[in-house]
Amino acid sequence: MHEYSIVQALVNQVEEQVQRHRARAVHVVCVQVGELSGVEVSLLKTAYDLFRQDTVCAQAELKVETVGARWECRACAATLAPGGPLRCDRCGGAVRLAQGDEIVLSKLELEVA
Ligand SMILES: [Zn+2]
Repeated sequence: MHEYSIVQALVNQVEEQVQRHRARAVHVVCVQVGELSGVEVSLLKTAYDLFRQDTVCAQAELKVETVGARWECRACAATLAPGGPLRCDRCGGAVRLAQGDEIVLSKLELEVA
């Protein structure tokens, strides 16, 4: 399951932060999931509930924020409307995905001693 390895990576990141801040507990884990990342949010939450047992995240709530795709011109950095042609309407340049395929640990609420 793809989502399971994502959760594993997230919990590893949380553990690093817990050690860095010498936190006693983790209350909330916020994750940003791009709409083009290929992740099913419901599967991600299920995987998290299975995986978090016996980790630093055992008592932590998972909050998932979905991030919409945004396209940008490589040449002039203009932002393009979603669903349009993948050509810049200002300069005709090629377009790249600026956001929307990422999975990011965006925020943590830690209890620090
Ligand atoms: Zn352009």
